[in-house]
Amino acid sequence: EAKRAGRNRASYFLPAMHRQVEERVAIQQGISIAIAENQLHIEYQPIVNLNNKKIIGAEALLRWHHPKRGRLGPETFIPIIEESDQIGPLTVWIIETVSAELKTLPDLGDTSKLSINISSAILNKPELTALVDEALKKVDAPNQRICLEITETSLMEDIDNTLPLLNQWKDAGYSIWMDDFGTGYSSLSYLARLPIDGVKIDRSFIRDLDNSKPVIETILALAKTMNLLTVSEGIEETYQQQELTNLGCGFGQGYLYSEPLRIEALQERLEQQAKREAHQLLQFKLPK
Ligand code: C2E
Ligand code: MG
Ligand code: MG
Ligand code: MG
Repeated sequence: EAKRAGRNRASYFLPAMHRQVEERVAIQQGISIAIAENQLHIEYQPIVNLNNKKIIGAEALLRWHHPKRGRLGPETFIPIIEESDQIGPLTVWIIETVSAELKTLPDLGDTSKLSINISSAILNKPELTALVDEALKKVDAPNQRICLEITETSLMEDIDNTLPLLNQWKDAGYSIWMDDFGTGYSSLSYLARLPIDGVKIDRSFIRDLDNSKPVIETILALAKTMNLLTVSEGIEETYQQQELTNLGCGFGQGYLYSEPLRIEALQERLEQQAKREAHQLLQFKLPK
């Protein structure tokens, strides 16, 4: 009886596990096909100055349109890709694509930057780090217009090995942002030593603003002392925008301003903004 139950249990669990393994293999093998067959594209979510709502840059977010399964969200496949070395070539593809698309945007000074997410799986493996670093060196987009976003957790994971690389990227002119700030465990002594330009306050705090206000205030005070810029992620409501502006957060990103956009749509927004600014400047200069 027990034996039969055991066997039944095994036959109940095995197919599910098998499917999971198959799913992983399918995604890991599928990504190189996806790159080769143009199933991937990047969407860009504008980041705005909270004081005047002007777009100052945008974050590159990966999208996979699978021929059989439709649109796949990055959170369903990136963690699986990160378990394989495929995250290296994928990130190289992202860097090349973003750099090429960056050149189609109006240059609004060094403020119109595009941010690229760099996964911890890359920072943890020297051969992948080298691959990504090489790609950054090869592309012909100005380094000053590229930001690298690295999550707090992955930055702190192996800080002694990551620090020299960050310094090197900073010296090369890239901006470096700590992503999803507040969800990891930053050591304050390290935070001061990191060559970062700013922190992105994780969406979970913005979503739960009423309860998280003390945390946000602490992060903003810390950032101010350390001379770091601040972006709030996931702003959806005007009251959140109001609170965060009052609290002194400099920048924001979220559906209130824009969903992630195709490059052409971002280009259009930036051109409209540039036109408005030129118009305002002209009105200011012309005698009435
Ligand atoms: P993230 O870097 O924190 O990116 C922000 C995520 O928040 C994006 O989700 C964005 O679409 C979403 N978001 C923005 N505004 C709002 C809002 O107002 N409300 C809500 N509910 N969500 C908002 P997405 O595109 O699904 O990406 C999820 C995560 O996947 C990213 O989190 C990032 O960790 C990762 N990811 C995306 N693209 C890449 C990539 O190219 N490389 C790597 N390594 N990771 C990526
Ligand atoms: Mg990010
Ligand atoms: Mg983030
Ligand atoms: Mg986040």
